[in-house]
Amino acid sequence: MARAFPTERPEGCALVTGASKGIGAATAIALAADGWAVGVHYGRDAAGAQATVDAITEAGGRAFAVSGDVADPAAPDAILSAVEAELGTVLALINNAGITDDGLAMQLDDDAFDRVIATNLGGAFRLTRRALGPMVRARYGRVVNVASVVGLNANAGQSNYAASKAGLVGLTKTIAAEVARRGVTVNAVAPGFIATDMTTDIPEGQLGAIPARRPGTPDEVAACIAFLASDAAAYVTGSVLTVDGGLSA
Ligand code: NAP
Repeated sequence: MARAFPTERPEGCALVTGASKGIGAATAIALAADGWAVGVHYGRDAAGAQATVDAITEAGGRAFAVSGDVADPAAPDAILSAVEAELGTVLALINNAGITDDGLAMQLDDDAFDRVIATNLGGAFRLTRRALGPMVRARYGRVVNVASVVGLNANAGQSNYAASKAGLVGLTKTIAAEVARRGVTVNAVAPGFIATDMTTDIPEGQLGAIPARRPGTPDEVAACIAFLASDAAAYVTGSVLTVDGGLSA
């Protein structure tokens, strides 16, 4: 009888960017529960990253904290090299680190536009480019990009963020097509309103627009990312999974 999934995971680890808090922290913990050793990347919040590492190791898993500004073109090689030295080949890359810097387009300055694009889109591109070689050689890889429903549908005041997240969707589909033959999948999740530091002030009116009538939790996004990173998702590539309580439906 044919095996359910054609490829099983070789030795290696996962790397989650922006795992010091929020969706990234929940994702690192979920991947560790699935048996991955996890590189816990962070920007400035070393204590948050350590808390994620502690949660993983206390549950019997393996984790390693690594910092770096993803908007810095030199960072991806430094981050991946540090994780490889500690945990082995990165076979699952979760591009989660991201920022907002909102304003109506007419008032948005170059710095706010460039910084959001460089962090959310440039960082994901460079990390993926650096990670793909070892994945292709291993004939196994999982890349999951954390996009947003704002990359799919309009949200006034977030043109820079929307452009970065729509860019991630294009990046996801195109790179998926480039590496599908090599056993590497590239997918995106598009969360709606998720209760994290990024969304401390969601207006009540916006919550009312969500068919589920509540914000999502980081764990609910993490579970979807963990599925896309699993062996079970071997035939899912180039897809965008909305995790939004029906908001974009
Ligand atoms: P969060 O709680 O604000 O966490 C953001 C993470 O990204 C932190 O770990 C932060 O690191 C890291 N980060 C930001 N800029 C960085 C940089 N230049 N270099 C390195 N790390 C950087 O955000 P979240 O809500 O969990 O969001 C995570 C992802 O989900 C983002 O891509 C966001 O756009 C996306 N998303 C969120 C929502 C939502 O409703 N929350 C909805 C859709 C999509 P430090 O804190 O260590 O500096």
